[in-house]
Amino acid sequence: MEKAKCYVLDATALIQGLAPTALSGEAFTVPGVVEEVRASEVLSMRIEAAISSRRLKARKPSKRSAAAIKEVVKSLGEGSALSKTDKELLALALDLKEGGREVAIISDDYAIQNVSAKIRVSFIPVAASGITLAFTWSLFCPACRRTYPPNSQPTCPVCGTDLKRRVVKRSKV
Ligand SMILES: [Zn+2]
Repeated sequence: MEKAKCYVLDATALIQGLAPTALSGEAFTVPGVVEEVRASEVLSMRIEAAISSRRLKARKPSKRSAAAIKEVVKSLGEGSALSKTDKELLALALDLKEGGREVAIISDDYAIQNVSAKIRVSFIPVAASGITLAFTWSLFCPACRRTYPPNSQPTCPVCGTDLKRRVVKRSKV
């Protein structure tokens, strides 16, 4: 029997183009990621909508997997490179894998990739996942109205105001 496919998405994956429907399997994240993206109103609304329609599931990992990940992270010396949320994502992936599912983590984080290789969970860079086809972001300055590419620094280089994200293009998935 073929294993049920599912994906674990980190904040980068959600910020760059939340479209869990573009994935051919269930999409999961952890509550900590939902907290992280709450800073963006538009994104927060989309994520809440995806969660309430059950296209995205926010789930806490088991204590057992959290402890196992802690050991792996320690053995790889990635402790300082990974946030609490990153470790929860990895632990959740481990839970899903041990539950008999085929799981892949969608992220651009090198430390997450390193640990996922160790626990034999697939890793898909955000750009290769297909979810970024849904829409792209740009940053704009709410004070002087200049726009910047998505990977710019967080403040406007002209006037110093904090930049905001906005959707610039939607395309069909
Ligand atoms: Zn500005």
